[in-house]
Amino acid sequence: MMKTKIALALVLAAFALAPAGAAQKKKKKTSTRAKPARTVQVKKVAKPIAAPVAQERTADRRFDTATMQFLNALWRINPEAAIAAGKYDTAATMTVPNAANRIARLEFIHNWLEKLNKMKPQEMSTRQRTDHALLVNKLESDRWYLETFKPWQWNPAMYSIAGPVDYILTTEYAAKPQRLRTLLRRIASVPAYYQAAQENISNPTHEHTRLAIRQAPGNLSVLDDVEKAVQESILTASEKTLFRQRLTAARAAVQGYVAFLEALDQRQLAAGTARPFRIGKNLYEQKFALDIQSASTAEQTYQKALAAREEILTRMNGLADELWPKHMAGIQKPADRFQKIGMVIDRLSLNHVRREDFLDEIRRQIPQLQEFVNSRNLLTLDPSKPLEVRATPVYQRGVAGASIDAPGPYRPQDRTYYNVTPLDDLTPEQAESTLREYNHWMLQVLNIHEAIPGHYAQLMYANRSPSIVKSLFGNGAMVEGWAVYGERMMMEAGYGDAAPEMWLMYSKWILRTVTNTILDYNVHVLGMTEPQALDLLQRQAFQTRSQASEKWHRVQVSSVQLTSYFSGYSEIMELREERKRVLGERFNLKEFHEQLLGFGSAPVKVVAELMK
Ligand code: ZN
Ligand code: ZN
Repeated sequence: MMKTKIALALVLAAFALAPAGAAQKKKKKTSTRAKPARTVQVKKVAKPIAAPVAQERTADRRFDTATMQFLNALWRINPEAAIAAGKYDTAATMTVPNAANRIARLEFIHNWLEKLNKMKPQEMSTRQRTDHALLVNKLESDRWYLETFKPWQWNPAMYSIAGPVDYILTTEYAAKPQRLRTLLRRIASVPAYYQAAQENISNPTHEHTRLAIRQAPGNLSVLDDVEKAVQESILTASEKTLFRQRLTAARAAVQGYVAFLEALDQRQLAAGTARPFRIGKNLYEQKFALDIQSASTAEQTYQKALAAREEILTRMNGLADELWPKHMAGIQKPADRFQKIGMVIDRLSLNHVRREDFLDEIRRQIPQLQEFVNSRNLLTLDPSKPLEVRATPVYQRGVAGASIDAPGPYRPQDRTYYNVTPLDDLTPEQAESTLREYNHWMLQVLNIHEAIPGHYAQLMYANRSPSIVKSLFGNGAMVEGWAVYGERMMMEAGYGDAAPEMWLMYSKWILRTVTNTILDYNVHVLGMTEPQALDLLQRQAFQTRSQASEKWHRVQVSSVQLTSYFSGYSEIMELREERKRVLGERFNLKEFHEQLLGFGSAPVKVVAELMK
């Protein structure tokens, strides 16, 4: 799973307007030039509702014009979102998240919703209609985050200056001295930024406060990177002096913020007044509707997950019986299915790469996955866009793991990276535990999920569909759902020689996805305790202790996002089975995949509508 997503989300949540759920997506956009074949295919499947052609074009044109105006206005009001999207014209201005800024954002949302709601999506073509729905959802979601959910009051971790600064420093959109001068102006506002943050924070959760404190070194290390670049640069002596002054003030602001949080946290702990991290049923259903945009409610999705879990456990039980004589010969087989499955998994997990080979092994597997997808005719891949595996940059390492890090839609020429958090900082015991988790089989599932045919392939398709709205505000459940569906697709095609070992490990992985949904709903809505959560994750889902506690940490600082995987996956599976029923013999798997991806990152329920 894209574990760094939460860290990213928290860094990017500071990018003002976008809610955490939408902001993290901006980070992982790749871009490929539109291919004529793809456009044709999209048109073929995406038949517009019967509307006169002339009228349709007028409605489309009006919407496209409005979209351009909307984005131009958005980039002006939200330079951080612009930077994340690869637009640097306003990068020298840092948004100070104060009350005046919130009023301006609400007015912006109100005005644009009014404009969009006056339009008639039923007269538009498919692309515009889905874009229209996404834009309305984005604005309603932004408003809900500002007015109802209000993380700006209780989530200190959403305040971070690192992301945009790092983008400006490391993206070669202009000559380095010019970028440094942009940074010189930008970092002048760091003290005002953290002062506004302190004024906003009223009753934070203990968990988000600790997260913000843990993220501070990442902010400081980005400032160190800037200082180093300034020293090596051709900036004038007076510019360098000014830079040093502003960097000193910026560091003091970061440290002052940490001191403020430490003191506040102590006071709250002593008084027992910290805001609970559980968001409760009402907020949960509302957030689920806006973030996930599923055809089901959160509660229905939770029920589906419970049923899926039972199915997976039954399969795993059979696989454990099948594998027992081969791997566990001479050992007494326990009657309890969790114990039995767990023992086989533990034995298989001893088969893993050496610590120092972790990144190299991931690099080695990518072309092999590509080859398998090609040979089984699952999906057309673009060989001209090789994926670069790299160690995750330090400031993104809030949570260990792996993620795809791709440039925004305005920077299609930039590289796409496969970020992998290296095991360097781990103790030998921690490293061994991680290596057993990402053992010989699991590492392959990880790469399938993150890279091919998962996130990386999906993002390539998403950016071919010529919709800037979808590349910017695409649906996270579709994105995660596709990656999880990709795992299933590979297994069904016989990946890993369809070995029972591969199936057992895949089942453990998908069980984790299903458990994420069960856990998130249980914790935020039904009040599940830490011991119950750890038992669900460790004993009943075969996760390691460190993995379980990491997940427990994540479920405390995020909500709903953990359900996006299973929600999107189950909707894609349902859609596929529906298409098989409708098309019968004419159903073609590769075509289905390419049609599905051709809509870009639209919500699955919208795609299902359009495929009819
Ligand atoms: Zn993922
Ligand atoms: Zn080992």
